[in-house]
Amino acid sequence: MTTSVIGYPRIGKLRELKFAIEGYFKGDKSQNELLKIAQLLRKTHWQDQKQAHINYISSNDFSFYDAVLDTACLLNIIPARYQQLGLPELDEYFAMARGYQGEKGDVHALAMKKWFNTNYHYLVPEIEATTEIKLVGKKPFNEYLEAKQLGIETKPVIIGPLTLLKLAKLPKGQNYSTYIDVIIKAYQDILQQFAQIGVTWLQIDEPILVTDLTSQDIENFEKIYHAILANKQQLNVLLQTYFGDIRDCYQQVVNLPFDAIGLDFVEGKLTLELLEKYGFPQDKQLFAGVVNGKNIWRNNYAKTLALLGKIKAVTQKVVVNTSCSLLHVPYTLKNETKLTIAQKAYFTFAQEKLQELAELGQLFGQNDAQQHEAYKSNQTLFTREREGTNQAIREKVAALTQEDFVRLPAFAERESIQKQALQLPVLPTTTIGSFPQTSDVRLNRAKFKKGEINLEQYTAFNQQKIADCITLQEEIGLDVLVHGEFERNDMVEYFGESLNGFVFTEKAWVQSYGTRCVKPPIIWGDISRSKPITVEYSQYAQSLTKKPVKGMLTGPVTILNWSFPREDISYKDSVFQIGLAIADEVLDLEAAGIKVIQIDEAALKEKLPLRKADWHSEYLDWAIPAFRLVHRKVKPETQIHTHMCYSEFDDIIKEIDDLDADVISFEASRSNLALIDVLKANHFKTEVGPGVYDIHSPRVPSVDEIRQVIEKLLAKIDKSKLWINPDCGLKTRGESEVFASLINLVKATQDVRSEL
Ligand code: GLN
Ligand code: ZN
Repeated sequence: MTTSVIGYPRIGKLRELKFAIEGYFKGDKSQNELLKIAQLLRKTHWQDQKQAHINYISSNDFSFYDAVLDTACLLNIIPARYQQLGLPELDEYFAMARGYQGEKGDVHALAMKKWFNTNYHYLVPEIEATTEIKLVGKKPFNEYLEAKQLGIETKPVIIGPLTLLKLAKLPKGQNYSTYIDVIIKAYQDILQQFAQIGVTWLQIDEPILVTDLTSQDIENFEKIYHAILANKQQLNVLLQTYFGDIRDCYQQVVNLPFDAIGLDFVEGKLTLELLEKYGFPQDKQLFAGVVNGKNIWRNNYAKTLALLGKIKAVTQKVVVNTSCSLLHVPYTLKNETKLTIAQKAYFTFAQEKLQELAELGQLFGQNDAQQHEAYKSNQTLFTREREGTNQAIREKVAALTQEDFVRLPAFAERESIQKQALQLPVLPTTTIGSFPQTSDVRLNRAKFKKGEINLEQYTAFNQQKIADCITLQEEIGLDVLVHGEFERNDMVEYFGESLNGFVFTEKAWVQSYGTRCVKPPIIWGDISRSKPITVEYSQYAQSLTKKPVKGMLTGPVTILNWSFPREDISYKDSVFQIGLAIADEVLDLEAAGIKVIQIDEAALKEKLPLRKADWHSEYLDWAIPAFRLVHRKVKPETQIHTHMCYSEFDDIIKEIDDLDADVISFEASRSNLALIDVLKANHFKTEVGPGVYDIHSPRVPSVDEIRQVIEKLLAKIDKSKLWINPDCGLKTRGESEVFASLINLVKATQDVRSEL
């Protein structure tokens, strides 16, 4: 059986691409140096796959920032404000990605959104009234030819027209259907160009097909593909879907003249059922996504071979495929020196998944598959009990009742008690928690980890940082302070390290957006807390000031969503285990005199199913209670904050309110404050801090700009419910831009207050 990979991680084994691009941003690297490194990485990634005997290897899965942005640029979807800067091509591209502030002008970045149900973020293409959609770029063609020159025949991959249009931001009042004809022409040109340069297989990604579609969407889909497949010449087209099943359009998809169709059998709950019910055309190939591209647990060969058997019973031409791009898993296990051999046996990252694909391809169809070494050693993992069970915690979770999820008294009563207790000015100002993680902060942590300094030295340094941070915030005039999170490498890893049940990697980075990567911990066993985690630093920070200092925790849903979850127990059981551990931490903070506690649920939406029908039953019914479990025992006067990155929760606004937090801060500036109307329409009870400027960009917002945002907010939100803050933590930003921004934030707030 042949094998295929939808896409490969592009950031590099050791994040080489990240460092090269950031070097270029800082001016330490020339464009030429950057291009060379990129080329070398592409070569390595292709060769990796070639050596693993993968038959269908992707090209154009490389990107300097994001593949959706690449596609927008390929098709000339470049808003005028970026063109007007008159920058060289690559710099214009980066201006769209991260904003630009310099001698050529001052523009914001494009909006950024979560890529389906992953922790990857794409840049939202923005079509303006004047945009002329047409093929102008060369990247996919060049990359195909580059691989070819290395002797590697690849299948270029591009994002499909329907996905692109449906994700794009359109001129006001427009429907994406308006663009069908121009997009058809543009993709016809793309296909023609591919055919011309000798491409034999093209992969077109249409993940949008796994979401809820209208009949209009399906009609558009058919219209687009009838047109662009009509004269594809000798080119073979693989329509690739992932992140779920295509229940809304299965029959239409299989009846179109594609040469192959890629379906996801890992996250696609109904994929097999659809296949068995409606069959599959015998003249097409089925790319069967059976190797999980999102999680790191080793594939269970017995199960997968049985699944492949069922698929083969329906159709003969089957290719073993990943379930989605391997972009969402780390690169290789090879650089992990601290995991035990026993642990490593359970994991596969991108490189190891290549071997899984190859082994599955070989084992399938062999009568004596079960006698093969590869099969036998794989099966030992699934037949023996794994270490890490904690019976006591399992019993606690099983014993939870309704009451364990309800905080009393109700919100309104708490709100007035808290206003009395805290005595904050109207429009209180605060930040989201972290302050810049300058190199000295990281160095201190690194030295401690390596044993070069002892605990006292390590702590003394952090305390000094905290003291400086408190002084600074007092000088700036913020109202609710933070300690700055200098002791934290990452908001999930930090907690994971202090809880039982997690294991950690050293180099297992996964791209989150642009050059930003995360290193998710692995939930290995049952979770429990053996001692307080954050209390000492919080208490120390509070001892330095009369103003309230927020205790800072990460919520259970985010810890789950930003870790690699277990596959042997349910998400619900896992998240309640974590919830119980964090709940103990909340009470310890309260007992230590902390009056405001923020429990971040930055990633609350991450695992929200793509289809509405599944939202409650498969997610919200345990995710919202998990948060409530964490704060339900605190005193009425203790103010519970939460923070969410990205404000895309229009559709779950009631559920967000139902977290029953006292205050919530979230990103808003980058999505044009669109959420605010929704808050109002829903009589949102929780107090809100919609971020008044975008911290994902190095721009410093002016006082005037922030004041205008605050005024817009005040037009929709009652002043008694409004907080003023940046839209996310400040740890990735430089000190000078952060200080300047916060000074402007406080000044703008004071100006507005004086006019209230
Ligand atoms: N408290 C965290 C911080 O400020 C929140 C980060 C986040 O939302 N991603 O860094
Ligand atoms: Zn955030």
